[in-house]
Amino acid sequence: MKFHVVTLFPESFDSYLKESIIGRAISQKLISVAFYDPRKYAPKELKKKWPDGNVTVYADGRPFGGGPGMVLRAEPYIAAIEKAIETIQKEFEKLDAKNKKLAKPKKLAKPKIKLVYFSPAGEKFTTAYAKNAVTTFTDVIFICGRYEGIDARVQEIFKADDISIGDYVLTGGELPAMVCIDCMARQVSGVLGNFDSREEERISSSKVYTRPEVLIHKKKKHTVPDVLLSGNPKLIDEWKKNGN
Ligand code: SAM
Repeated sequence: MKFHVVTLFPESFDSYLKESIIGRAISQKLISVAFYDPRKYAPKELKKKWPDGNVTVYADGRPFGGGPGMVLRAEPYIAAIEKAIETIQKEFEKLDAKNKKLAKPKKLAKPKIKLVYFSPAGEKFTTAYAKNAVTTFTDVIFICGRYEGIDARVQEIFKADDISIGDYVLTGGELPAMVCIDCMARQVSGVLGNFDSREEERISSSKVYTRPEVLIHKKKKHTVPDVLLSGNPKLIDEWKKNGN
């Protein structure tokens, strides 16, 4: 599964993607994450080079109709999204050309791209959505907004899924993209050591316990529910199903 993130702040992903299960999935090439900074792909009319060599990119503008904050301009986002699509296609062409040179070429499936645009008012992101994305598509492009959001004409052009990760407003789409990548990666075979350990596929509980059986905190004993020590899987599942 390949993830592509259109963001003004690619570095904000660094530590999360390096750690634990997601970090391992990336190093094992089970998933990949590529970044496209709209500033980098902005047309030259929006770039100004200063005598000291520094470049300013005018990636935002005042909102038409008034109001506070800044709106992200459409052109850099359009260019970055197009770059992501072009990269996916070129990578496939490269792979296909290599494959055709083999003695027994395989039938390679063409890339299937899902576009996801983040907004607090979008459709709620769910595990079912993640599962469908992973089983139906090869590549997901996440479009992360900031400030007052992205000029609406970007959505008009690309018609991406409009997705929210919850009823609250964040400062940017980077956390939503990390949430989606994490949740979708869990659905990729091999990412979780034991695929069946996906909570989504079994009866699970938010109340979990490990050693010691009796925890003493400030002289008070905290014990593990007897049922979990019973060794009876039926009773344990029953206990979990009852909202424990
Ligand atoms: N007025 C903007 C709107 O309704 O889209 C809110 C902009 S918000 C401050 C900046 C960016 O953060 C949004 O463009 C979106 O990409 C992202 N964002 C904020 N909250 C989000 C949420 N709950 N789910 C998904 N994306 C969110």
